[in-house]
Amino acid sequence: MKIVSSKGEIRREIAKRRPGAKVALVPTMGYLHEGHLALVDRARERADVVVLSIFVNPLQFGAGEDLERYPRDLERDAALARARDVDLIFAPSALEMYPHGEPAVQVAPLRLADTLCGASRPGHFQGMLTVVAKLFQIVQPDVAIFGQKDFQQAVLIQRMVDDLDIPVEIEVAPIVREGDGLALSSRNVYLSPEERLEALALPRALEAACAAFAEGERDAERLKGRAHQVLERTPALRLQYLELVDRATLDALSEAGPGAVLAIAAHVGRTRLIDNVILR
Ligand code: AMP
Repeated sequence: MKIVSSKGEIRREIAKRRPGAKVALVPTMGYLHEGHLALVDRARERADVVVLSIFVNPLQFGAGEDLERYPRDLERDAALARARDVDLIFAPSALEMYPHGEPAVQVAPLRLADTLCGASRPGHFQGMLTVVAKLFQIVQPDVAIFGQKDFQQAVLIQRMVDDLDIPVEIEVAPIVREGDGLALSSRNVYLSPEERLEALALPRALEAACAAFAEGERDAERLKGRAHQVLERTPALRLQYLELVDRATLDALSEAGPGAVLAIAAHVGRTRLIDNVILR
């Protein structure tokens, strides 16, 4: 496994391996956990060359968000990636990615970024799409693997690729959870032991709605009501949204059909957590 930090070098390394080889890209912000590594495993199954990018993208963090304190440990990440058979880590600096400072031309999502996480994080998805578009240009992967954990992100990336005719296949892999149900996230390290317990309200609220769906409930308000009953037991949790939406258009639904997504975001202390479940 090789770790490179310049765009020129990653292009050269991929070009050396490319003839006849299929390339998969797994974009991350690092501080790897089993959720990221499941994407790597999937990439390994799908391609001959697995490229993992690690970049805490300043462009997608808003004022007052956690850009400075976001956990970073390249040595630890490299050891985990090597053990999962990654071929190349691309870990550029902000200067390498944005030599002119803030890019004058960016990828701006329209309506799909107005809801859910986009509503409370203005500019976040524009920053995310811009860096993902750049990574696609630099690596030119045949396939890129993203997690269902960041469900709105995955929808926006699929639409960017469709709408801008970017020749890459997008695959979305399921959410990896701790044994008790909490979705793995690099941000979980921020949680105190007490907050870690409070955070369980997110998956438990989603589970309660899923159980109601499995019993035949389809009404969105009543499904969300089941989730709210669970959330009310954890008053320390500050709910940002709980929405039942269409998995492609992100439109709010009044009835749950197959493939509807129930998505949640909440603050536990200073930490913002997200989770979601596809109702099947
Ligand atoms: P991040 O480093 O948080 O930007 O995440 C990088 C990629 O890993 C994104 O595609 C995320 O959706 C995905 N990811 C993060 N957490 C999980 C998880 N618990 N299960 C599956 N994928 C995840």
